[in-house]
Amino acid sequence: MGYVDEVIARVIEKNPGQPEFHQAVKEVLETIRPVVDRHEEQYRKLAILERLTEPDRQIRFRVPWVDDKGQVQVNVGYRVQFNSAIGPYKGGLRFHPSVNIGIIKFLGFEQIFKNSLTSLPIGGGKGGSDFDPKGKSDREVMAFCQSFMTELFRHIGPDTDVPAGDIGVGGREIGFLYGQYKRIRDAYESVLTGKGLTYGGSLARTEATGYGLLYYTEELLKLNNIDIAGKTCLVSGAGNVAIYAIQKAHQLGAKVVTCSDSTGWVYDPDGIDVEALREIKEVQRARLTEYKKYRPNSEYHDGRGVWSVKADIALPCATQNELDLDDAKALVANGVIAVCEGANMPSTLEATAYLKEHGVIFGPAKAANAGGVATSALEMSQNAERLSWTFEEVDARLKQIMVNIVHNSDEAAKEYGMEGDYVAGANIAGFLKVVDAMIAQGVV
Ligand code: NDP
Repeated sequence: MGYVDEVIARVIEKNPGQPEFHQAVKEVLETIRPVVDRHEEQYRKLAILERLTEPDRQIRFRVPWVDDKGQVQVNVGYRVQFNSAIGPYKGGLRFHPSVNIGIIKFLGFEQIFKNSLTSLPIGGGKGGSDFDPKGKSDREVMAFCQSFMTELFRHIGPDTDVPAGDIGVGGREIGFLYGQYKRIRDAYESVLTGKGLTYGGSLARTEATGYGLLYYTEELLKLNNIDIAGKTCLVSGAGNVAIYAIQKAHQLGAKVVTCSDSTGWVYDPDGIDVEALREIKEVQRARLTEYKKYRPNSEYHDGRGVWSVKADIALPCATQNELDLDDAKALVANGVIAVCEGANMPSTLEATAYLKEHGVIFGPAKAANAGGVATSALEMSQNAERLSWTFEEVDARLKQIMVNIVHNSDEAAKEYGMEGDYVAGANIAGFLKVVDAMIAQGVV
């Protein structure tokens, strides 16, 4: 058995019941195989892959809080600090009932390579809780966030670990978390990103992941001599990433005809109305069933179905494993040209393989959605110099970072004989920088 296969087997054995983590490790290690083969003796001796797949530390804690009826509730909190070879741990917090240690580890592992790809000095981490903010009052969300931070604060810091938002953690949650950190530490530090603009947030951070996804997609298509203008797109999700992906796609001259949430999906042949979507999701925090009230020509469907619509480009922006082999077959049958991932690991391994085999241009999450964390790092830079940059300055830097990611991934793939494989290219480019730093820093 080769080194890569040995380490995959070891990860599966040592981390039972964590299928998403196994999936993320397999995807990365199998695509960097040519690099590992070239350096096998050195990497084996230094146990590079064993160290890379074992987090620096994983923290699990109790989060008790009181609901509006006076009942005490208990949730589980997590922070996985995966790798700090190139900078302080950086990665979002996810609040969703499906959260468990395996999901946080898959996200933290992916984050190592994504953060490396941005070319900014940030290591990989991720955290969250099985708390569900849906249907909770603002007071309940605040009570939960304050309790969560009362434990988390001792593990994070502006030079140690800087969390941000993710599913279920937006501006409201970051505000409550930051307030509690400041109160406990008595320090105004850049310990969270995605903050509000009045207290250290960066312009364009809210839009960054969605905008970055479209800058990446535009450049990747350009590399393949295709113009994004005039193309029809499918977007899944209706949260932070989806909303701003749709907005930027429209600005670039494409038309997005779908979006979805965890109960159903919308088809709007005239193009999704972003303002209506923002009103429903960001203001009312309501279901997508409301969309038809704003756009009578649209259709609402219960359940899944976004990937059955005919389009040129698919942008999954909801959650992991939301695009499976059957969906990939439907997309290919409908002539899709490109799939670029806004969510983290939205395509199953089988779906990714099928799309690539059928000539679909495939932009993997860790490259395509890196704009969010990149802009978080820009927020840290602004906080460190106690200045705020203009929207245009942040947006221009974001765009340049996404363009560089496309070309760095492309060149890495070519160097290892895998031209056009942007999954391998992203993994290799991200991996090489981290491994170089790990080797330089000795056995730690
Ligand atoms: P949000 O919570 O803002 O939105 C998530 C959207 O996906 C919602 O529409 C939600 O539906 C839907 N969704 C969530 N879970 C499921 C599920 N199990 N089944 C079906 N639909 C689901 O999160 P974000 O937009 O911030 O995150 C979306 C994805 O992008 C995640 O994979 C996240 O890790 C990734 N990402 C986010 C970044 C960011 O900066 N925010 C950065 C990089 C990646 P509903 O409204 O019903 O809850």
